[in-house]
Amino acid sequence: MRFASLGSGSRGNSTLVECGDTLLMIDNGFSTKETDKRLERLAVTGHDIDAILVTHEHSDHVAGVARYSRRYDIPVWASHGTSTMIKKLDAVQCFNSQQAFSLGDIEIEPILVPHDAREPTQFVFSSNNIKLGVMTDVGSITPHMVDALNGCVGLLLECNYDHEMLVNGVYPASLKRRVLGDWGHLDNQQAVELLQQLDLSRLQHLALAHISEKNNSADIVLNSVSQALQCDRAWPKIIDQQEGLAWCVLS
Ligand SMILES: [Zn+2]
Ligand SMILES: [Zn+2]
Repeated sequence: MRFASLGSGSRGNSTLVECGDTLLMIDNGFSTKETDKRLERLAVTGHDIDAILVTHEHSDHVAGVARYSRRYDIPVWASHGTSTMIKKLDAVQCFNSQQAFSLGDIEIEPILVPHDAREPTQFVFSSNNIKLGVMTDVGSITPHMVDALNGCVGLLLECNYDHEMLVNGVYPASLKRRVLGDWGHLDNQQAVELLQQLDLSRLQHLALAHISEKNNSADIVLNSVSQALQCDRAWPKIIDQQEGLAWCVLS
């Protein structure tokens, strides 16, 4: 199994997960042209994608989904709640957000998460005893999330904001409340707390995502995570809004 990112942050998110003959795209907050360009960096095209899974209806995750799925005739999957919010698509395949299902060679476990959307899910992907967790928009840590992520070999995790920077930053008060709340996003400290609760003995790749450009920095994220995990600062990967993340292979 391998995973990559086209980019992550409030200006667009999209992740790729591939195993065997199956290539899945998770979310797409980019235009068709931009998506094609970013896929080219990863040596794949829209024709290679078997399905697009949507985590929730926020525009940084769905803005490009309808057009891209039509352009390349790719089926779109989402929870029932999320599917009702994707207005520009006639046909969305619904999964039960409390039940695992398979697409091709990949088993997908939707994880219901606290986030301010209709029925937001994040995902754990598995195949042949390799487990990859993808958690980009999570307001707070739940026991269910910890259970699901235990023993993962790959983890893509949100480190959205630095608490001090957000509180003292330029966001209006209402937006600060939203991001800070239990249905908003994880800050660096919460991401670290989640990591510390997990069995990471099999972890090969940790990718840090959805980093706020106004209220956080790659430097601060790497400091917090490497200190908490007592790992080399160069080991965790930062997913850049513009550059995304090259393929990470899990074995
Ligand atoms: Zn969101
Ligand atoms: Zn988001």
